[in-house]
Amino acid sequence: MRKEQYNFPLEDLISEDDFEKVKKFAKDKETPFLVIDLAKVGKMYDELIENMPFVKVYYAIKANPLDEVILTLKNKGSNFDAATVYEIDHLLRLGVQPERISYGNTIKKEKDVAYAYQKGVRLFVTDSESDLRKIAKNAPGSRVFFRLLTESDGADWPLSRKFGAHPDVVFELIILAQELGLEPYGLSFHVGSQQRDIGQWDNALSKCKYLFEAVALHGIKLKMINLGGGFPAKYLSPANELSTYAHEILRFIKEDFGDDHPEIIIEPGRSLVADAGIIVTEVIMISKKSKLNQYKWVYLDIGKFGGLIETLEECIKYPIYSERKGYEEEAILAGPTCDSMDILYEDHKYVFPDAMEEGERLYVFTTGAYTQSYCSVAFNGIPPLKAYVM
Ligand code: PLP
Repeated sequence: MRKEQYNFPLEDLISEDDFEKVKKFAKDKETPFLVIDLAKVGKMYDELIENMPFVKVYYAIKANPLDEVILTLKNKGSNFDAATVYEIDHLLRLGVQPERISYGNTIKKEKDVAYAYQKGVRLFVTDSESDLRKIAKNAPGSRVFFRLLTESDGADWPLSRKFGAHPDVVFELIILAQELGLEPYGLSFHVGSQQRDIGQWDNALSKCKYLFEAVALHGIKLKMINLGGGFPAKYLSPANELSTYAHEILRFIKEDFGDDHPEIIIEPGRSLVADAGIIVTEVIMISKKSKLNQYKWVYLDIGKFGGLIETLEECIKYPIYSERKGYEEEAILAGPTCDSMDILYEDHKYVFPDAMEEGERLYVFTTGAYTQSYCSVAFNGIPPLKAYVM
């Protein structure tokens, strides 16, 4: 089957000038590698603040923990969401003050809570009695926010089930936190990453309103709502503009809480860094499994283990670009390793120029988030994905 067009407009992703700069920068480097445009990270942060002036940003560094990315956002005034003591140490090493760090993982060892507290971190998330008691014992008097379970419907990369608790459990945790001498500070949720259904924030906010009112009857005034991540990056499946998210979410907040709403925190990862990254890869091999088979197989020098793990179940569909012009042919795309799960896209057929040859480069756009930080250490002896900043 042939198609005349790529299925995404390149100019939506990068200007001609910027693409020329990337290609020049990448020219003599051995593939595969990730190129991060730091200016774009700064721009994404500015755009976020412009669109959502009512929020305090805690960048989720798991999305891209490169020093240069963290420092760019630190200098812009961002706060940080850390998932582990390793991430906390990383942030402290880069000069981020502990008051700007939230320990945002509901799964914590007791000694890690103590370590974070000793380093000055005073803001913790929780979703269970066990974790809450660890915080009370090892981080006395700290601010705690409580994570609500959400459905993640509409998210390309769901985070459901594992994190958060139902409002009935959260209600009891809030009361217990007060009794244990902690400061019950607010509520959080994450509607799922790359959430394309903005209404999911509305559902979660209405649960927050219910809980704010329920605990107020017990004399506890919560002060904050953490809207999590879930904000969009530019992949193949279309999402609304950030301005639409911002407008709608503020409308939901005002509907439930009025103009005098609680402090609003967000923890964006993907939306701040994904669009700033391009992975440059090489076609290792093009083959056919049988003479009459309709589809070619295109094998790249990067796959699931090299940083494209979010292609699991084809959840995230990266825009992939070849410079060749001409007719295009649908192909199955796979990685280089000896594991047969290392197939990137089989159901969703990507289109490539039929004249594409082995040894050519492809550009995988929107790969600044959850790529390098996710890649394997040495599967098949392949080194971790290199990253360059420009
Ligand atoms: N906050 C928490 C607790 C998360 O687990 C994640 C992602 O896994 C994020 C924030 C970042 O979410 P996103 O990349 O969708 O912005």
